Amino acid sequence: MAIIVQKFGGTSVGSIERIQNVANRVIQEVKNGNRVVVVVSAMGKTTDELVGLAKQLSSQPSKREMDMLLSTGEQVSIALLAMALQEQGYKAVSLTGWQARIKTEAVHSNARIIDIDTSCIQQYLQEGNIVIVAGFQGVTEAGEITTLGRGGSDTTAVALAAALQADKCDIYTDVTGVFTTDPRYVKTARKLKEISYDEMLELANLGAGVLHPRAVEFAKNYQVPLEVRSSMEQERGTIVKEDVLMEQQLIVRGIAFEDQVTRVTVQGLPRGLQALPTIFTSLAHRGINVDIIIQSITNNETSSVSFSIRTEDLPETLQVLQSLGGVKVEYESELAKVSIVGSGMISNPGVAAQMFEVLAECGIEVKMVSTSEIKISTVVAQESMVKAVEALHAAFQLEEAAALNS
Ligand code: ADP
Ligand code: ASP
Ligand code: MG
Repeated sequence: MAIIVQKFGGTSVGSIERIQNVANRVIQEVKNGNRVVVVVSAMGKTTDELVGLAKQLSSQPSKREMDMLLSTGEQVSIALLAMALQEQGYKAVSLTGWQARIKTEAVHSNARIIDIDTSCIQQYLQEGNIVIVAGFQGVTEAGEITTLGRGGSDTTAVALAAALQADKCDIYTDVTGVFTTDPRYVKTARKLKEISYDEMLELANLGAGVLHPRAVEFAKNYQVPLEVRSSMEQERGTIVKEDVLMEQQLIVRGIAFEDQVTRVTVQGLPRGLQALPTIFTSLAHRGINVDIIIQSITNNETSSVSFSIRTEDLPETLQVLQSLGGVKVEYESELAKVSIVGSGMISNPGVAAQMFEVLAECGIEVKMVSTSEIKISTVVAQESMVKAVEALHAAFQLEEAAALNS
């Protein structure tokens, strides 16, 4: 019998009716003759609400207690889904992350899964149960409860699919698949029939919230076939897999974007080997994620460096830089990062030039740029973000392309 892992996100389990709908989707797979492991997120906006409660008590709550708190959200939905299935006459059992033996590193709030001992899940499956596992959580060697970072239930599902050598992993969500860009912002966005792991990983890392980046990493490393599809509609979703043909000589597969970006510039750095390591090591020690970095030589004695961070990290970044002394710090907030992604870029020169031209025609100033083999990211004013995405979507013919592709 094949093993299938199904994952349902927060909106998909957002009410009792929706949990009943999920139960029906699970039963369909059981009726198809499969063994089913289900991963669910917390109901609706539960995780946000729990974060809100903590913030009322403390501006910097302990990360251990945050994990203790946030992990309760998923515990509610696994139990309710098990009840819904039992009510329809099916054997079902719910397991928290630690009961499912999902071992993580000892890092609170953003832990990586290091191992899953599947013997307990296998046993339940053999006894004819539908096994329902809480997403987004695990346990350390020392028995501490951890969480995997926001959106981490996707990663639980793919990691379980890899560990169980499942035949496939279906990610059910509130859109019908992976689109050329976020369909909530851009009406011309079109669903992709397929996308490669590498392209999906770039999109996820660059802000496309439809899949957790680590879930894509797991899927690629263990070659787990993934499908992203709707929990409400029956239509096929998007297949994420190793190799995908580039249709119609297309260069760009999708566009990702994220707001709340700040550019920080440090001027007057003494020339020499130590300035950069000092700044970036100090930031890394505080856990501040630095994204695009641009260094420029001002004159013989000094240089300057600009880098982008998440705006929420600005106060801590300024503290770190001030503690270094002797430098001038400036920053610009209300910026956004807009990125085009596609493996067709590898063999096509001039993609960056085209991107800059499109943005210039719209009167959008590019403030920072970074590239890799299959992506180009630009930092622009936050107020121009959606306009930039729409213009690039049209210029790189993503609307027509996806229509051909689906
Ligand atoms: P879930 O709760 O099911 O995990 P998420 O909210 O995490 O759902 O992810 C689904 C959302 O991802 C969609 O509602 C959509 O707004 C957003 N999204 C961002 N980029 C894309 C994209 N390229 N394709 C589809 N959805 C996207
Ligand atoms: N409930 C968690 C969150 O809201 C995990 C998830 O939904 O994947 O981030
Ligand atoms: Mg999600």
